[in-house]
Amino acid sequence: MTPALELIGVGKTYPPPARVTALSDVDFIVYRGQKVAITGASGAGKSTLLSILGTLERPSSGTVRIAGTDTSAMRDAQLSRVRAWHIGFVFQQFFLLEHLTVLDNVATGLVYRGVPAAERRRRAAEALDRVGLAGRVRHRPAQLSGGERQRVAIARAVVGRPAVVLADEPTGNLDSANGRDVVDVLAALDDTTVVLITHNADVAAAMQRQIHLRDGRIVHDSDAAA
Ligand code: ADP
Ligand code: MG
Repeated sequence: MTPALELIGVGKTYPPPARVTALSDVDFIVYRGQKVAITGASGAGKSTLLSILGTLERPSSGTVRIAGTDTSAMRDAQLSRVRAWHIGFVFQQFFLLEHLTVLDNVATGLVYRGVPAAERRRRAAEALDRVGLAGRVRHRPAQLSGGERQRVAIARAVVGRPAVVLADEPTGNLDSANGRDVVDVLAALDDTTVVLITHNADVAAAMQRQIHLRDGRIVHDSDAAA
């Protein structure tokens, strides 16, 4: 098994004035293609953990490796490149652009890659097909259900075929039927490593592996439970 993400002794204390210790001694390896749920109460450090996995935040201590490469010595510009090429993000609030079609929303996921416009659209159509929305390319986000909007956001996250998709409460704004569709789409991303945060036990159970955080520490990891 090839490691996709490795955290070794990771801690995060936000600087003054907050000085909150959000994570302490976090160790885990996510293997390529694994689907992992992160659970824990509000304030447990889940979003901080996802931000560190996604190189949006730097840890205060410890090491983060992405596809085997240590990120600690990387400059911000290098980290942006790692994000653009290797990581797709999905958030609870979708963040779609209302004035663009579904197709163009997804195509924006390739802007930082320098892909020409026609090629961006072709690949966006492919990604929408992967999430079951081939019939919605000309729609505007406002014409879609919440579950469809989140599937557009997933298509935008995967259009560049990143190795890793990080999702912060992707079903948090959805009813259970729409949430189920979104989870099914994420679980079906073969070859893609998925780490998602959820408050929902059914969503967590649909992933291969569950990690539970409490007060910034891992208190349960289903892979380590044996
Ligand atoms: P969760 O996503 O599990 O609710 P977070 O990672 O958002 O938890 O937050 C963990 C802790 O870190 C909380 O006490 C929160 O208030 C604090 N925190 C999160 N982000 C920041 C920040 N940017 N600055 C200061 N403190 C923060
Ligand atoms: Mg959070």
